[in-house]
Amino acid sequence: MNYPRLDIDCEKIYHNAEFLINQLSLKNISVTPVTKAFLGHPIIAQVLVDAGATMLADSRIENLQKITESGISIPKMLIRTPMLSELATVIKYSDMSLNSEVEVIQRLSHVAEQQNCRHDIIVMVELGDLREGVMPNRVIDFIREIISLPNITLKGIGANLACRYGVSPDNQNMKVLSDLADGIEAIFGISLEIISGGNSASVNWALKTGLTRVNNLRIGEAIFLGCEPLEHKNIKGLYTDAISLTAEVIESKIKPTLPWGNRGLNAFGEKESVPDRGSVSQAILALGRQDICVSGLKVPDGIKITSSTSDHLVIESSQKPLLIGEAVTFSLDYSALLSSMSSRYIYKYFKAPKGRRRE
Ligand SMILES: *Cc1c(COP(=O)(O)O)cnc(C)c1O
Repeated sequence: MNYPRLDIDCEKIYHNAEFLINQLSLKNISVTPVTKAFLGHPIIAQVLVDAGATMLADSRIENLQKITESGISIPKMLIRTPMLSELATVIKYSDMSLNSEVEVIQRLSHVAEQQNCRHDIIVMVELGDLREGVMPNRVIDFIREIISLPNITLKGIGANLACRYGVSPDNQNMKVLSDLADGIEAIFGISLEIISGGNSASVNWALKTGLTRVNNLRIGEAIFLGCEPLEHKNIKGLYTDAISLTAEVIESKIKPTLPWGNRGLNAFGEKESVPDRGSVSQAILALGRQDICVSGLKVPDGIKITSSTSDHLVIESSQKPLLIGEAVTFSLDYSALLSSMSSRYIYKYFKAPKGRRRE
């Protein structure tokens, strides 16, 4: 076995995706799985397609390119508003993008004309989390400026909450989105196909609410980790242990808790005060800040993370001392998943990559 290692159980991810797709379809909401946490990995993309996804989304066009080149041909949505410097690849490798700037859509139109194809647009509306989106009172004017651009189709509107400030989706802000959809349709005499209400933070709202105009969610975290981001609560019916990270012990000793010698800042410019807790059973795992967002690791019982440096994770064990070569397994939150997938030093092991075929 190679360590550190991320274990990814594709059967559980398949189950989570299928469960959310089915449950939310009862509310007339389609699920567009978001592959960014897996860097658009083709194995995961295929599992999601097998589970019933009819469109995939990612924030990076490189990831959508990877998925396209692996032979997956369902429509793809770019969920970060495009950079002007990447428009040619955006047109080439995505069918639809989330947008919040007129200038970007004008240029997308121009590039789509050059490439002789069409590109679909979802206009993002700001609903209070203050990340991307057009202010609600500016949306009608915004759409007036882009509605008749050549080679561009306005597919719908959308919103993103809970990312910057943790603003929760609720009936009130979702009604703002729904009313805007009605208004746009009335004013421009069109019908909007997609009202994309949010991300994993919207799952619980969506499962509880009655039918609204929101008919799409873009979901990553809930599929992969089985929990919702606002309160870190598990979502009923989903596996929360589809992904785990295992690292190996490279030193294990009884050591004092109090450092000695004159102290300055540590390697990361920090200086913490250290209480003297006597001697402890201390172990070092071969895993560090260069690999992972350490604060996102959830430890097994009897183990505590005390420090981390670039390449070392220092832990204490309250039970018997760990052995050299012993493996310690953690579960991960979203930031730990993102960082560990991006580390080339962490081995990725996909269990049951085929998933079950959807009947
Ligand atoms: C990342 C992202 C998502 C998915 O978020 P999860 O919390 O993983 O469900 C949805 N929409 C946008 C715009 C995103 O950037």
